[in-house]
Amino acid sequence: MDEDQEEKPLNFHEMELDDRILKAIAKLGWAVPTLIQEKVIPLVLEGKDVLIRARTGSGKTAAFAVPVIQKILNFKQTTTHQETKALILAPSKELCNQICKVLKDLTIKCSREVKCLDIAPQEDLTIQKPLLTEKPDIIVATPARCLQHILAGNINLKKCLEILVIDEADLVFSFGYEAEIKQLLDHLPSVYQAILASATLSEDVKSLKQIVLHNPVTLKLEEPELAPSSQLTHYHLKAEEIDKATILCTLLKLHLIRGKTIIFVNTVDKCYKIRLYLEQFGVRTCVMNSELPSAIRCHSVNQFNQGVYDIIVASDEKSLESPGTESAPEPTKRFKRNKDKNSGVSRGIDFQCVSNVINFDFPLDVQSYIHRAGRTARGNNQGSVLSFVSMKELPLLEKIENKLKQGQDDSVSLFKSYQFKLEEVESFKYRAKDAWRAVTKIAVREARLKEIKQEIFNCQKLKSYFEDNPADLQVLRHDKALHTVKVQRHLSNVPEYIVPPTLKNLSGIGKKNKRKRDYQSSNIASKIKAKKNNPLAAMQFEGFKKKRKKIA
Ligand code: AMP
Repeated sequence: MDEDQEEKPLNFHEMELDDRILKAIAKLGWAVPTLIQEKVIPLVLEGKDVLIRARTGSGKTAAFAVPVIQKILNFKQTTTHQETKALILAPSKELCNQICKVLKDLTIKCSREVKCLDIAPQEDLTIQKPLLTEKPDIIVATPARCLQHILAGNINLKKCLEILVIDEADLVFSFGYEAEIKQLLDHLPSVYQAILASATLSEDVKSLKQIVLHNPVTLKLEEPELAPSSQLTHYHLKAEEIDKATILCTLLKLHLIRGKTIIFVNTVDKCYKIRLYLEQFGVRTCVMNSELPSAIRCHSVNQFNQGVYDIIVASDEKSLESPGTESAPEPTKRFKRNKDKNSGVSRGIDFQCVSNVINFDFPLDVQSYIHRAGRTARGNNQGSVLSFVSMKELPLLEKIENKLKQGQDDSVSLFKSYQFKLEEVESFKYRAKDAWRAVTKIAVREARLKEIKQEIFNCQKLKSYFEDNPADLQVLRHDKALHTVKVQRHLSNVPEYIVPPTLKNLSGIGKKNKRKRDYQSSNIASKIKAKKNNPLAAMQFEGFKKKRKKIA
């Protein structure tokens, strides 16, 4: 830390937090504060301006949310007058949605006293106006949305605001919000407490710091950008495209991947390719990319977090999420593409309880690897990253390993080799090849169109148009896709004969009773149970090694 504070670690109950907050924290299952929470909560409660730099997944949302709620409860003890006391700004609708969810979870025991409203969704201003007249205690918004409401006279923070938080501050400027932020500050009181949270301390954050913070405490966690190897394991597996597809399908169909998984690819088309490919095997996934309308993205994150889907296929948009780093877009070139400024994809978005990240395509640089890997091992959870690496991608792997290992013991390699004997899953390969080829470019395009069509059907704004023009709706409904990928039922079943004998116990495929008996008695199974904290340990084909040892 920057500050030389040699205090002993604090626990939540030692932070003078209201019982209702402590109960909510207990309900969330958070036993101890993360490092950033332990440092930030007392400082914010003391009334200090704080600049937080912490890696994604470090628990920084709660680090500012908990003291903000506590302070509102404190204000409520001295006044009965309802006012908006806190404004939380974030660069995208998804992040606002997520922050609001954390606030709702943390205020579950005091929801009558502390009201929180997310105004980032792009509804008509007039729809949100009545909600704003109730003066929610906390407003969460993107800078642009907040300013729109202020200019429309729906919010007046000039006299009442006590706390301003800007989350993912480094993205705020790069998302093109500079003008809005400056204009917005004119509508805030002259004195308020401010908190900036950011994953990097870029030039943008420094300028934001100048205009927003007064005499701040800067907390730079002396943490590596990624969780330690005891918490996050990195595997790599050399494979070319079709082998990657085979391995992916084998791992999923044999249930060798445990827990929630994010599969990363490098392009939007590839997202759909993987989704359509896996669909043929009866593996349901949802896709995530910045070209999807924000409503679908928020919906997907929520569905994933609620367990409706266990697998997300995501293409990350580096240019949107790496400002201030080696690959940062130049200021003048920002947002050339015609995308929704209020939306971003993966940084900061909390896909909860992700056990595995699979890099189907290897990321193009170290920041991208870090952002992807940061989706797992969040809070105090365990996680694994498995990267498929083709010959072409090998130099990238070396480059990234070298960068991540800088300053560390050179003799220990960061990436463990993931044991997978492709020759033992030949039958999977045949199936995988067919299924992979079945997903043509046209099929991918149709899948993307289908998604857009679905959005049109669900669009509230078009509802009245379709009511007046039902024929148009019918045409759209019957405009069938030309080349969809046929789901072949037989592919979703895995017959016992194609499962390598060494994997039967692990995958649980086989005769029901035998499986039960074998699984219970198997050493491997108990080892997996014992190691269940590391989800990819279960993906190691230890069966091969054991069997070979026995034969020898
Ligand atoms: P954040 O960095 O705020 O996006 O948080 C990352 C994840 O850590 C979220 O899924 C939180 O639910 C989780 N989390 C936050 N604080 C704690 C804590 N004290 N203990 C365990 N998990 C936490």
